Amino acid sequence: MQDFEFKTIIEPFRIKMVEPLSRLSLKEREEWLGRAHYNLFLIPAEAILIDLLTDSGTGAMSSKQWAGMIDGDESYAGARSFFAFEREVKGLTSHAFIFPTHQGRAAERILFTIIGKKGKYILNNNHFDTTRANIEYTGAEAVDLVIEEGKNPRSEHPFKGNMDLDKLKDFIKQKGVENIPMVLMTVTNNSGGGQPVSLENIKQVSKICRTHKIPFFLDACRFAENAYFIKKREPGQAHRTIKDIVCEVFSYTDGSLMSAKKDAMVNIGGWLTLNDPELAAHVKNLGILTEGFPTYGGLAGRDLEAIAQGLREVVEEDYLQYRIASMEYLGRHLVKHDIPILTPVGGHAVYLDAKAMLPHIPTHQFPGQALATELYRVGGLRSVEIGSFMFPQNAKMELVRLAIPRRVYTQSHIDYVGEVIVKVNEMKKQMRGFRIVEEPPFLRHFSAKLERV
Ligand SMILES: *Cc1c(COP(=O)(O)O)cnc(C)c1O
Repeated sequence: MQDFEFKTIIEPFRIKMVEPLSRLSLKEREEWLGRAHYNLFLIPAEAILIDLLTDSGTGAMSSKQWAGMIDGDESYAGARSFFAFEREVKGLTSHAFIFPTHQGRAAERILFTIIGKKGKYILNNNHFDTTRANIEYTGAEAVDLVIEEGKNPRSEHPFKGNMDLDKLKDFIKQKGVENIPMVLMTVTNNSGGGQPVSLENIKQVSKICRTHKIPFFLDACRFAENAYFIKKREPGQAHRTIKDIVCEVFSYTDGSLMSAKKDAMVNIGGWLTLNDPELAAHVKNLGILTEGFPTYGGLAGRDLEAIAQGLREVVEEDYLQYRIASMEYLGRHLVKHDIPILTPVGGHAVYLDAKAMLPHIPTHQFPGQALATELYRVGGLRSVEIGSFMFPQNAKMELVRLAIPRRVYTQSHIDYVGEVIVKVNEMKKQMRGFRIVEEPPFLRHFSAKLERV
């Protein structure tokens, strides 16, 4: 029998524990901005009303995950919780060796310490910043090969995270198989705006890698969000379960890197998985140096239990439908009010185009930072500038990212966020740019001090 259909996509959970939000006055928020020298990283979280700084480790766990926290086995070696974790990760990846790590970058450091060195190239659609940093630290070069549409904020391509197959083949031909120890694919493509990669593209990249015997790994942080986009956008995929798509994606790979702070829906954790026994022996030995014995890898038994349960929940279609819908809902609202954003909206964040919104503020006066600080001043929102303030040498665009934590905010929170942005847009003529008065030698966005021009 056909069930009734309703338009409203509801949060597929109810709330049994709440955390109050603190609402400061305009005067208090202005004081905090002054004290923090207009750097939102320097404002304490308690002075924020809605925190959209990142979706990493900021999600809410389910009652079953919390039950797993109590039930965690804290034995040093061979804990029951490790085997629960291993079973779930293997159930998705089918990889032979499963190593927990304390977060994604720990897996990166171990892997690239082994395979990276001067003269080597690691290819990717787009490297995430910690991935790039860990590769470059070994002397190897991190090369981005995303398709041209992926660099164009106005392109409506359904899979803007895809890798350019011709560029991949040319690069291999030009530099030689022996100088390319690995090809990675980041799903969804975080640095490219959370844009998905198609199943077909993953299959083709895998085929090219297998022909040349180059290991192909997934940077899998948002594997479930990516699978949902495949189901919705790729021809012939609509009838499949998310888990089925996820398993097919991993079947084309030889290993994976993961930050469990994203699609494993926990606050800390990660993994490194792979098939090659020789590489696995290296990983085990190096892992023991910094992460600990291979059955806990820098995590408590309770963390492993929470990851195992999070992996069961993240592939539920109800959850993913709600997750992607909340992003699209905010995006649609902003487009309706003529606020320039990157489209199509990605899987974990909405990006405001500050350059288009604030043409009267030149890029050297950081329009993105002006917008982000104004969103805090007016509505208590925390977002993050991704533009000339964050990347002094090579900013491609002037963006403000609103990342949505998993299962934390409800539709009325998102409505409020939309209302604040529209209000700020109405008052934008009065907004002014910034100049930097003090900055550290690198990664300046975390601690630099600014003043209004
Ligand atoms: C978050 C992230 C990482 C790094 O993971 P951490 O857990 O923050 O160390 C690597 N790659 C991508 C694509 C990410 O989003």
